[in-house]
Parts: sequence; structure tokens; C-alpha cells
Amino acid sequence: MTRAYNFSAGPATLFDSVLSEAQADLMNWQNSGVSMLELSHRTPPFRELLATAIADLRELLTIPEHYKVLFLSGPARTHFSAVPLNLLGSHTKADYFYTGVWSEYAMEEAKRYCEVNCVATGEASGFQTIPEQSTWAYSDDAAYVHFTDNETINGVQFQTPPEGASAPLVCDMTSSILSRPIPVSQFGMIYAGTQKNVGCAGASIVIIREDLLERAHRMTPRVINYTDILRADNLPYTPATFSYYIMALSLQHLKATGGMVKMAERNDAKAARLYAAIDASTFYRNTVDTRVRSVMNVPFQLADDALNEVFLTEAKQHNLVGLKGHRLVGGMRASIYNAMPAEGVDALIHFMKTFEQQHG
Ligand SMILES: *Cc1c(COP(=O)(O)O)cnc(C)c1O
Repeated sequence: MTRAYNFSAGPATLFDSVLSEAQADLMNWQNSGVSMLELSHRTPPFRELLATAIADLRELLTIPEHYKVLFLSGPARTHFSAVPLNLLGSHTKADYFYTGVWSEYAMEEAKRYCEVNCVATGEASGFQTIPEQSTWAYSDDAAYVHFTDNETINGVQFQTPPEGASAPLVCDMTSSILSRPIPVSQFGMIYAGTQKNVGCAGASIVIIREDLLERAHRMTPRVINYTDILRADNLPYTPATFSYYIMALSLQHLKATGGMVKMAERNDAKAARLYAAIDASTFYRNTVDTRVRSVMNVPFQLADDALNEVFLTEAKQHNLVGLKGHRLVGGMRASIYNAMPAEGVDALIHFMKTFEQQHG
């Protein structure tokens, strides 16, 4: 059986080598006689796996000493409430960039805990661009400034972290972490779910500057209190062991294939080819401001929406799946995360051209 090229936004495609290794470990993990699914999180081998994954993440992103790395179980949106609960401290206000659907969710959740100041909104453009820096309005008493690095649904991405904030930057990097080098020292905190670029669903990563710990609200549940999680060596509960394991394998793979610089080159090349194909055609269109187009998620529309279903059906026959656009945006979306090979993108471009010739 051939594997399809899976363009799903998340859970998303994984490296073939990660899946093969997991397949072998599923029956008998490293000759231990037990499946990796049966391994207790209290055993030395699991603790070692966790420690190695953290070390690999630190190496891949050159995370400075004074930042801590946490692994949590559960969805990325845990942090939509965990961030205000952990970081507000004595503040009553936080700043949020509103650049698309995910930042909106983060902002709405934060409003349950504090006053939210919207630094900038892409609403007027239908979230097709990120407003110019000259229009940004930071507040002077915010606990932190939150932004969504890559808007997975809208296909809009910050090219560099926003400048000019005096409060620590907090970033949702769920759909872009590990896709390129990150200037970690410019951030107070970074968080990301694992199901898009670092593995399968079920876990999230937090990278946090040490001085931002120890300020959680006293009502913060222990299981999402960053300081408590660190005190428990990242094991304050039975974690999603399989998700941590798949993340560990994915990190090893990233290291073995040249790290972040190489990954960024491959990702940029994939995105450039796909956008060029879309821009060269009158049948397909992507309306995002070219300066802030996402390298990870490429939404595109067909000239005629009535052809959407045909496109998806024929794409599937060509082994290309997961292309249906998000219901809020419509059309198509090709998610081309780390594990999507260049061949997959080329196969998509080839199919799109053929489809246009037949239906355009
Ligand atoms: C997918 C996604 C989320 C939500 O992830 P869950 O694990 O479903 O909570 C949050 N932020 C961004 C940017 C995403 O792409």
C-alpha cells in the first residue's frame, strides 16, 4: 500500500521513518519485552526518553540556559487559559495581536481572566494581512504581549517576532514551531501543540523564561501550573506517553536531517514553488498579502466553488488527501509542514495544473 500525501492541517503528516520506528516499537520497545504503549512513565527508560527529547529540543532551537522546557499533555488551547493564569501576576491587563482565527480564540479565553487590549487587528482586511507596525498600540501596563506566529486557518504568518513591546512576548507557535530557527531570547514564552510540526496529537511544549515562573494565580489548577509542572520534573501526572514518544522520535529525525537551518530551506522552497504555481494561474488564487504569506498553510480558492468537490475527489484519486479548506475560509488548504516531502508538493502542483487544463 502506498501512503498518500496528507495535506491535513492537524493532526498532520508524520515522517515515514518515525512511523516505521513506532511500528516496530509498538510490539517490543527496544527489546524490553513490552510495547512502548505499555511503558510506565515512572520507569528510568521513559524518564530518559523525556530527558533526551528536551535536550534535543534545546539543541535544535538553541534554547538559552535561562529558559525552561515543559511538556504538557492535552491540547494546545490549554495555554489560552494557562498563559493568563500563570503570567498575569499582579497585572490586570494583557496585550493581544488579532491576526486570525487562532489569535481570536486565545483572546476570547483571556478575557475570562483579565482585560484584553487588542494591539492590532487584521479584521479590516479579512485577515489577509498583518497591520503595519506604525498602527500597533501596546498598552504600558500589560503583563505580556500575545501573538500567533502562524495563523493556520487564514494562512498569515509573522515573518519575524513583533518589535517594540516592553512586556514579554508570548507566542502560540502551534503550526510553525521547529519549521525554522527561532530567536528564543526575544520571547518570554513560546507554546505549541505537537500535532502539526512535532509529532502526533495529545501534547504541547512550553519554552519559558525562568523569571516568568512563580507568579501563577493561586487558583491555577496544578496540572496547568508551569512552576508546579517543572517542580515535578515534567511528570506531575500520567502523561500522554505515546505523544511524548512520537515527539521524541520526530525531534531525533529533525536533528539527523540537518536541524533548523536545513528544515527552513526545505520549507521555504516548498512554499515558494506552491505559491508560484498558484500565482501563475488564473484558475487558482491566494489572496493573502505576499509579505506575510504562511510557509506552512497555503489556502487557495478555485475559480469556481462548484468545482471544489470534484477537485477533492480527483485529488484523492491521485493520492493527495486532506486538502479541504477550513469551513470558515472555504476553498482548499494545503498544509505543508516539516514532514511533507518536496515530492508531495510537486505532486500537488502537477495535479493542480492537470485539473486546471481539464476544468479551467
Ligand atoms: C491547531 C492550533 C491550535 C489548537 O490546537 P488544539 O490542540 O486543538 O487545542 C492552536 N493554535 C494554533 C495556531 C493552531 O494551529
